[in-house]
Amino acid sequence: MTTLTNLTQERRLVTAIPGPKSTEALKRRTEATSGGLGMAIPVVIERASDAILLDIDGNQIIDLGSGIGVTGVGNSAQRVVDRVIEQVQAFTHTCFTVAPYMNYIEVCEKLNAMTPGAHKKKSLLVNSGAEAVENAVKIARHFTKRPAIVVFEHSYHGRTNLTMALTAKNMPYKEGFGPFAPEVYRVPMPYSFHWVGDQATITEDAIEMVTHKIDKEIGAHNVAAILIEPIQGEGGFIVPPKGFLPALAKYSKDNGIIFIADEVQTGFARTGHMFAVEEEGVVPDMVVTAKGIAGGLPLAAVTGRADVMDSVHASGLGGTYGGNPIACAAALGAIETMEEENLVARAQHIGEILGSSLRALAKKYPVIGEVRGRGAMQAIELVEPRTKNPNTAAMNAVVKYCQSQGVLVLTAGTYSNVVRFLPPLVITDELLKDALSVLDDAFASL
Ligand SMILES: *Cc1c(COP(=O)(O)O)cnc(C)c1O
Repeated sequence: MTTLTNLTQERRLVTAIPGPKSTEALKRRTEATSGGLGMAIPVVIERASDAILLDIDGNQIIDLGSGIGVTGVGNSAQRVVDRVIEQVQAFTHTCFTVAPYMNYIEVCEKLNAMTPGAHKKKSLLVNSGAEAVENAVKIARHFTKRPAIVVFEHSYHGRTNLTMALTAKNMPYKEGFGPFAPEVYRVPMPYSFHWVGDQATITEDAIEMVTHKIDKEIGAHNVAAILIEPIQGEGGFIVPPKGFLPALAKYSKDNGIIFIADEVQTGFARTGHMFAVEEEGVVPDMVVTAKGIAGGLPLAAVTGRADVMDSVHASGLGGTYGGNPIACAAALGAIETMEEENLVARAQHIGEILGSSLRALAKKYPVIGEVRGRGAMQAIELVEPRTKNPNTAAMNAVVKYCQSQGVLVLTAGTYSNVVRFLPPLVITDELLKDALSVLDDAFASL
């Protein structure tokens, strides 16, 4: 089988962005869709393949966002498309807890094998990252019989009621949407760019602050789980200093706390490891995955220690659509793509190009305060030159310039001053370099 979406992997502008057709279509968007929805780029998409988005005016846009880190294997990746077509023709749904099917089981076998640690693991499939985080919390509470969940400053875990409580940033995620779920405790996150000292000192200080808060204010014996993104995504690609995650994992183990890694954005080869916690050899009790798992179909998972995952009574977990067979087929195609195309190595290669280019830009443009991230998950924090004051205006101007030239980049950050890069891992070097040269022009135009 072949896809209809093999677009040439090159940027091509035939109209302004947005073009006339997108402009018309976006009027209908405004009329028909909730005003509560955002929009990163004002174009309407007709097709996409790998790292190119084709809009309805015929513009080919370089995708450096992957639909928020989802299409790591490329948009409409061949193995994903083939398996989805095969599955949709076989059957579309039974509900796994009504009548099971093989590809749900196969996805779980894959996740149990791929996630860090040689211990016995089991998995649960659901529909979204937020739902997976919710389930991880449910299971951790059930297993430990403890109420408290510890989360971090700058964290993002989703938009449902519990995950809003777990998420740090008020605007836009939480404003006016409370009251929020109780027994969620927020502790400091070592955000090195805004902290004082070298990495070792920052790690030591942060661990001291976190464990003090848990021991003295919550009581470690009340804590079911410590939940953390190994590199914070929406918060602005904040990379914890070396030693922080291993120390947290050890503290959790010593205190009977379930250590949950939210790898929703960092997982599936994105950071140059299959999972970001591998960088420091951390083995979580539970790993939460979504975004990159199924090449664009909605799927998410909780994978954890078998004793923890099995502690829940039968029918205590589930949902109508969780692990839908079409999404599972897509996941098997996506995971096969990661393995056969060695996308872990590819992410490291992208990381070298991206990192060196961004560092070169930072030397040239003092508005770039820091370059950070890992592999194909990197970002720049924009500041008023020679300070650490956020520069949201510069971020907006850079993003707008890139869009006008046919390059889609996403933003992030607690202070709304981070430009983040999450290209499909199959992006060609030429396309990536073309996009980075547009970024250079964007800074020159400020
Ligand atoms: C996107 C994200 C979520 C939420 O996933 P959804 O599929 O949007 O519900 C949770 N955690 C992290 C780290 C994320 O980046």
